[in-house]
Amino acid sequence: MNNNLQELDSQYIANTYDRYKIALVSGNGSLLKDSDGKEYIDMGSGIGVNLFGANDAEWKSAVIEQLGKIQHTSNLYYNEPCVKLAKMLSEKSGLAKTFFSNSGAEANECMFKVARKFAAETRGSEYFTIVTLKNSFHGRTLTALAATGQDHYHELYQPLTPGFAHVEAGNISELEELAAKTKIAAVIIECIQGEGGVIALEKNYVDELKNFVREKNILLGVDEVQTGNGRTGKLFAYMNYDLQPDIISTAKGLGGGLPIGATLLSEKVQDVFGHGDNGSTFGGNPVVCAGACNILSRISDELLAQVRENGRILHEYFSKQSNIEQVTGMGLMIGLKPTKPAREVVDECIKNGVLALTAKDRIRLLPPINTPLELLQKAAEIIAKAC
Ligand SMILES: *Cc1c(COP(=O)(O)O)cnc(C)c1O
Repeated sequence: MNNNLQELDSQYIANTYDRYKIALVSGNGSLLKDSDGKEYIDMGSGIGVNLFGANDAEWKSAVIEQLGKIQHTSNLYYNEPCVKLAKMLSEKSGLAKTFFSNSGAEANECMFKVARKFAAETRGSEYFTIVTLKNSFHGRTLTALAATGQDHYHELYQPLTPGFAHVEAGNISELEELAAKTKIAAVIIECIQGEGGVIALEKNYVDELKNFVREKNILLGVDEVQTGNGRTGKLFAYMNYDLQPDIISTAKGLGGGLPIGATLLSEKVQDVFGHGDNGSTFGGNPVVCAGACNILSRISDELLAQVRENGRILHEYFSKQSNIEQVTGMGLMIGLKPTKPAREVVDECIKNGVLALTAKDRIRLLPPINTPLELLQKAAEIIAKAC
């Protein structure tokens, strides 16, 4: 890599990222190239974003076609790609309406606002507490950090937005005890904690949670920012469970590589917002939505079945490796607990032409969901060796 790039980056860009020392400059599907011309199999898709890989012809032509018409109109006017995407999201999920924003954190912020307003109107403004799970990740804004159930993110930024509480995943009595002394608006979960180490919630716990919120008249929100859009072998991860969320948030893969956030509202809460209650300058941008329509239209039942099958094959392969202590996740969202430190494994993978992610002490794999099986298997061998 050009040393100058690293120097300019450290001189001019805020120090928030500890980057790997490569610059990706081009790609084709699940194969990417760096500035030295070295090739990599992409098992991270830019943290679950490039759902159909790099330089995808169909997505690109949808985006370019819209770019040739108009790039932005604002939410003062009607916008066809945006309506088309919302209709498709409703038809595919069964939820009723969507609010569009630009990132996962914003999609969650909207979810919190819907929960607060709905609870205040239907039960009283004292029902404001939003409960999330320990070890969760919901984003980086001050309020999304307050929702994130990991203390190390909180330390430097006190006071955070009040009105959030965290309970242990898998422990329904902790939630029951909290509910006995706190007036709760909503419980919000990730079905698979991504950033927290690719840890799926137990079906049994999700059933208990579902019954509990129903009995207590508490809203259920699901953060599908990472798990959504086909990643786990279903359109949304909650569909792997017997669940009907009241609100879901999604982002990352939905845009296929362009920034988008979406908060989907069930019939129950679909009309909680009135004019002026939320907004976003860029939300529902026509270029982004035209691309997202293409992405969503291609998450077919056949592709989802293939994600499940390829995920199963990788899961089985990794489970046989003696240097991998645990394999977690669903579909093409896979967590591996290596015997070595995860960062060392990723460095070794980079040397050998594979891009992988970490999550806590785990290796996290989020390849483009249409990656051919042979490429997945080739990458899996290199990853297993590096563990
Ligand atoms: C990435 C992520 C977010 C934050 O998304 P941004 O687009 O970075 O704001 C929120 N929730 C989950 C589960 C995520 O994985």
